[in-house]
Amino acid sequence: MTDGIKLCACASGLAYADCCRSYHLGVSKAPTALALMRSRYCAYVIGEIDYLVQTTLPAARKADLRDSYKSTYDSINWIGLEVVTTWLGGENDKIGKVEFRAFYIQDGQRSTHHEVSRFRRSKGLWFYVDGQVEDSRQ
Ligand SMILES: [Zn+2]
Repeated sequence: MTDGIKLCACASGLAYADCCRSYHLGVSKAPTALALMRSRYCAYVIGEIDYLVQTTLPAARKADLRDSYKSTYDSINWIGLEVVTTWLGGENDKIGKVEFRAFYIQDGQRSTHHEVSRFRRSKGLWFYVDGQVEDSRQ
C-alpha cells in the first residue's frame, strides 16, 4: 500500500492516495454512503480488515465479524466494482442505500456479487448496516 500512484480499487478513477486512503487511515471520514461503500469495497480488495470492522454499525457487528471479513479477503480476489444506483445517503441524510455489483474470482471461477447495502449515519459517521444479496444474473 505504499504505491500511491496506483488507481484506487474502488473504480473512482482517482489515485488511491487521493481517494480511499485517507478514509482507511482515519484522516478523513467518508461524507456519503456511496463514498463509504466505495471505500469498503476498496478495503475488501486490499485487506483493510480493521476498516471493514470499524465502518460496520456497532449494533450490527457479530462476534465473528473480523474473522468473516478476513476469510473473505483470503478467499476472494475482487476484480471490479459497478455502482448501480444510490438512494439518499447524502451529507444531510441519516440513512442511505447503495446498489452495486462487485466482480470477483473465487476458486478460479468468475462471479458477481449483486447487493443492496443499507447505511446509517450516526454522530456524523456513515456505517454499513447490512446488505440484501440480489440474484447476480439480473
Ligand atoms: Zn477509492
